[in-house]
Amino acid sequence: MTEAAPPHIVVLGGGSAGWITACLLHHRWAQRGGKVTVIESPEIGIIGVGEGSTPQLKAMFDHLGIAESEWMAPCDATYKLGIRFTGWSERPGFDSYFHPFPGPVDMHTEPGFEHNCRLARRGFDVPARPDDWFLAAQLADQGKEPHPSANFPFAPSYGYHFDAYKLGGFLRDWAVARGVTHLPRKVEQVELSEGGDVAALLCEGGERIDGDFFVDCSGFRALIMQQALGEEFLPFSSNLFADSAVVMPTARDDAMQPQTQSIAMKAGWRWHIPLTARTGNGYVYSSRYISDEAAEAELRAAIGMADSEEPVRFLKMKVGRVRNSWNRNCLAVGLSQGFIEPLEATALHIVIATALEFAQAFEQGGFAPDHRERFNQQIAARYESIRDYIVAHYRLNQRSDTAFWRDNAANHALSDNLKAMMTAWFTHKDMGATIAETFSVPAYGAMSWHCLFAGYGTFPPQAKMRPLPEGAEAASLADTQAMLAACASNFPPVRPA
Ligand SMILES: Cc1cc2nc3c(=O)[nH]c(=O)nc-3n(C[C@H](O)[C@H](O)[C@H](O)COP(=O)(O)OP(=O)(O)OC[C@H]3O[C@@H](n4cnc5c(N)ncnc54)[C@H](O)[C@@H]3O)c2cc1C
Repeated sequence: MTEAAPPHIVVLGGGSAGWITACLLHHRWAQRGGKVTVIESPEIGIIGVGEGSTPQLKAMFDHLGIAESEWMAPCDATYKLGIRFTGWSERPGFDSYFHPFPGPVDMHTEPGFEHNCRLARRGFDVPARPDDWFLAAQLADQGKEPHPSANFPFAPSYGYHFDAYKLGGFLRDWAVARGVTHLPRKVEQVELSEGGDVAALLCEGGERIDGDFFVDCSGFRALIMQQALGEEFLPFSSNLFADSAVVMPTARDDAMQPQTQSIAMKAGWRWHIPLTARTGNGYVYSSRYISDEAAEAELRAAIGMADSEEPVRFLKMKVGRVRNSWNRNCLAVGLSQGFIEPLEATALHIVIATALEFAQAFEQGGFAPDHRERFNQQIAARYESIRDYIVAHYRLNQRSDTAFWRDNAANHALSDNLKAMMTAWFTHKDMGATIAETFSVPAYGAMSWHCLFAGYGTFPPQAKMRPLPEGAEAASLADTQAMLAACASNFPPVRPA
């Protein structure tokens, strides 16, 4: 690491992105004299959705030294072992599948699953449903916690569900207690220097906030990065059709399962997220295929709230990314930087990666353009790689009941990388090798891609499946199930809050 002095960082925005960035940069640079200021407007508020995470959120808490016992209860948080996709395929036997976060036990079961997928791709009738092969799927089904007994040293990888308002509040208090400055102010103008850098933020009432480096966490407004600096926004609308959401909480689940549910609807999908105090529900849909009113009615019917007077909340989503996340002396993080719809709950994952990779690039090169360019390429590649995986869900859906699903299945606006993955699956190539050749930042590994293809039943039609020929061998599902059952017995049931 070179000894570029940490800059005085001014973060605009106090949503999850703003506070995560402030915590990570302060933690990294405070001892070397780094200073972080967060400005947020209570009047504007935060988007207040985003209740699911990947294991990167756990890694962040571990990195900051914050124990689960400190933050989970105040944020109504629960464990998440993966996502269950239901209703995305009409193929008999493939109505639902589980996409697990990979853990150490999976290293033993994954090869058998992938072997059977290879056989099933060639038309052999062997068991190749993802749920049967992964410990996380068993634990989620059985409503178990991810913390095994002391004699079982193979804890699975997991993320969390949480209340977005409470998580922001917790991180704010944590950061402020450690020296981050918090200014509740509304920024009215971004002042640029003659050279075009950001010089200061001008607040309501005339106050001027200077800094060396500015982080734009102002949400979809993107006040600094897009509005003041004019950074180009690249929409993903040609292959991600969803642009809206309608949200409504319901009472907490009685039997809490440590999984997000993603359930197909007429023009999108809805999430079901169990928190300790309530259940989060939201329908992500495309306004080209359904009106807000019809989406609300469909959501209400699906969650048993058709006759309720409780209001819903509508949100518009700007799906895409900025070309450069770091431009001049400004970094965009969170919704100001980009958004891939929430199907795999990857937004905070990108927030954390952006903040940490920026800190590393800055330590190596300060404001040197080559470090900035490399950083921008890496972040862009991460976005595209996640985007491709999400698009694959839609492209491979096996529903035909509405135009939304039919148009998605027929959509040819696919990236070259996604085309390479699809070609590899259908031409029986090795998926792991294809990922390595295709993605410079592979957001999803072979296990995830196999789960997606196999989960939707992307195999030859059942009528064409044939028995294995003499001498060929499939991985034994019975042996795997026995092993997973023995492993699962080491985990306790989820404790009621
Ligand atoms: C429907 C939906 C579902 C989602 N689900 C998930 C999920 O499951 N998992 C996940 O990881 N992510 C999810 N996300 C994304 C997630 O909500 C965001 O990534 C996350 O909340 C971070 O948002 P943010 O901090 O960038 O923006 P915001 O929460 O909008 O915060 C913006 C901040 O900027 C401040 N601000 C704006 N303008 C000014 C101004 N002029 N002066 C001062 N302050 C200002 C606001 O007051 C606020 O504090 C979802 C998003 C949507 C739309």
